[in-house]
Amino acid sequence: MGEIDRLLTSNEQYASTFSSMSGASPTRKLAVVTCMDTRIDPLRALGLHIGEAHVIRNAGGRITEDVLRSLAVSVHLLGVQAIVVMQHTGCGLIGVSEEDLQRLTGASLPFHPIGDPEAALDEDLATIRGADYFNAVDTLAGFRFDVETGIVSVQSCTER
Ligand SMILES: [Zn+2]
Repeated sequence: MGEIDRLLTSNEQYASTFSSMSGASPTRKLAVVTCMDTRIDPLRALGLHIGEAHVIRNAGGRITEDVLRSLAVSVHLLGVQAIVVMQHTGCGLIGVSEEDLQRLTGASLPFHPIGDPEAALDEDLATIRGADYFNAVDTLAGFRFDVETGIVSVQSCTER
């Protein structure tokens, strides 16, 4: 069976017991930005359930323009008041250069590679803090997920 068939077969089972939800707003008023790394299960790692939080993922869990766009919708249209940026150990973006990534992919895009993981997370939190359209956000935290232990450590947490 091909991959697409496998997906559609699984969906038949899923849909057979599916119950729809009343609204699209995250009930915990929370958005989590994290990496697309397959070793991270953000809902289980943080004790969250479907419907409770927005989860925005990209390579590195970096705060790119598109993540800002999604977070702006989260905050202003869907009631999010807390943002967690959760980067992780062993990320594929650590220790590679923008030039390497552009050469390896053939894409002339900003890849936001990570030199110093702590500095990168600080930089991403500062980007959110620096956007005045996030003034309504009351909690902003920077987490690091350890892919060896599953333990989350807090690098930064600001509550207003
Ligand atoms: Zn990663």
